[in-house]
Amino acid sequence: MGNQCIICREETDNFSDEHVIPDALGGYYHIYTVCKSCNSDLGSSVDAKLVNHRFADFQRYLLGLTGKSKKLPNPFSGTHHIAQDTNKKIQLRLDEEGKPAPYTITNVSYEESENEGGGTRVSICLDASDEKKLDGILDKISKKLQVPIEQFEGIDRSVQTIEKPNIKCSFSIDLAEFKIGLLKIAYEFSVDTVDGYFTDPSAIEVSKILKAADYDSVEKFVSIGTGFDHKLFDGMRDYLDVESKKHYLIIAGSQTHGLVCLIHLHGMFSVGVCLSKLPYPDNLAVIGVNDIHGKTFRKVYPEQLLQEIYAPPELRFQYYFPTENSLRGFLSLQTAENFDFCRTATSYPVFDRAGNYLDLDLYETMKASEHLVTSESLEDGGIAHTFPIQSELFIKIMPSENLVQVIAVREELRQVSKL
Ligand SMILES: [Zn+2]
Repeated sequence: MGNQCIICREETDNFSDEHVIPDALGGYYHIYTVCKSCNSDLGSSVDAKLVNHRFADFQRYLLGLTGKSKKLPNPFSGTHHIAQDTNKKIQLRLDEEGKPAPYTITNVSYEESENEGGGTRVSICLDASDEKKLDGILDKISKKLQVPIEQFEGIDRSVQTIEKPNIKCSFSIDLAEFKIGLLKIAYEFSVDTVDGYFTDPSAIEVSKILKAADYDSVEKFVSIGTGFDHKLFDGMRDYLDVESKKHYLIIAGSQTHGLVCLIHLHGMFSVGVCLSKLPYPDNLAVIGVNDIHGKTFRKVYPEQLLQEIYAPPELRFQYYFPTENSLRGFLSLQTAENFDFCRTATSYPVFDRAGNYLDLDLYETMKASEHLVTSESLEDGGIAHTFPIQSELFIKIMPSENLVQVIAVREELRQVSKL
């Protein structure tokens, strides 16, 4: 990439701190390969579509994410109605504690009396908190009707309280344009993570779409799911803590399907982005974990994933006893308090029938029968693989140093955490 901005693809020294996931959504993934001018354009025409989306407003409100403005968004903004009195237009404003409180929008209506010489009937409806504005409103009405206030007749100031108002809200929800914000996240994550993606013809096309904020071309790439379908992540619930306050970005390569990025923004959006149809290595997989609470972002690779979510493997053996006596002998040894197998820090030394030490690694021996492995899920999370042992080998029981023949090894991987 050299000194090329990954969005406009021009040479520059003027790079800036780009949030791959907008900071208003609790994003902590920074890259420094976007020029200042593109960064600012992305903020206003790409990120804004995500950040100001109604779903994002609700989530930011619930998570207390204020973003740059240091102000909580009001997800209830707009003009609503009270079901008990459909003529009443109200807003839901956030009070000091951030709770939504109904606010009646001031409304003045005029009705000409049909009686002879009847005059005009004026109704003023305003929020109780606006009572002090009433005199000003009366003043304006007086000027409009060209009648001095002193000549107003029968002024009735009544206060109406609606207990437990049933508020009918109507919202508009963007179903398309916000996807450009997800395309940007997928693109920047891939360019930053996958060698060679930047020069992929699809990557060049995506950078043009982002640069031009070309909303109409986004769906060609953001083509998996509606954007709101969290089922996309059901298959990964064992590994990802989708209930926690985390965003996940997953990139996966395939020789046949190209490059795909799955995005799960906590409580907001889940989507799949097809970044390229060219072949990418099948073993290419990276998970980006953005922890809103911990204020961190990190990339996790498959080897790390296994180490993090599973405890060190535990081995259990299946034995072969040629006679009933040998079985009984083993069982009585096994009940001894100091029963153990001869073992090293990481494995078990193996022996032949005569007790000669064999220079064989138990794991290597297990791997030799990988094609015969049977696997099952463990009840409380994790997986067990059973490897049949095809050669004749023995392990040593301590402290008696008796030998016992092993015919299969069960490797249990207990899951201890999620990403
Ligand atoms: Zn640029």
